[in-house]
Amino acid sequence: MATLRLDIVTAEGTAFSEDVDVVVAPGTNGELGILPHHASLMTMLQPGEIMVRKDGEEIYLVVSGGFLEVRPDRVIVLADTAERAEEIDLARAEAARRRAEERLKHPIAGTDIPRAEAALRRSLVRLKAAERLRKKPRI
Ligand code: ATP
Repeated sequence: MATLRLDIVTAEGTAFSEDVDVVVAPGTNGELGILPHHASLMTMLQPGEIMVRKDGEEIYLVVSGGFLEVRPDRVIVLADTAERAEEIDLARAEAARRRAEERLKHPIAGTDIPRAEAALRRSLVRLKAAERLRKKPRI
């Protein structure tokens, strides 16, 4: 079966680089499903999960935004941050959520509201991904 190469790169390095069967990504205009031989395109990403199917298995990565390019049989993601769902530190994400919520609930002079909102969104996608993984029955 045809595959496509997925590379997810952040400022910290390569988060993922494998041949996969399907990529589903959170484009700013909606969820984007990419199979081999997909037409070339470019899109911005919103904070959310990238789902990758490889050999019948699903892999989830959280990205906090970025840019995605589809080339013939190749997908390149330049992400602000990217973590595999199983790498997410739940306590850290919960602390980030509480901090952002507190800033938004009780803003003081100098509180950067869009920054707090972005931090809240990042924490929520990390919590969702980590919690889903925790609930998944292990075989
Ligand atoms: P925090 O306030 O906890 O740092 P943040 O949303 O400000 O959260 P980011 O700036 O989005 O953090 O990410 C900084 C780095 O830390 C990135 O490499 C990201 O992958 C990693 N990271 C952030 N939160 C988590 C988490 N809960 N679990 C694992 N890695 C994380």
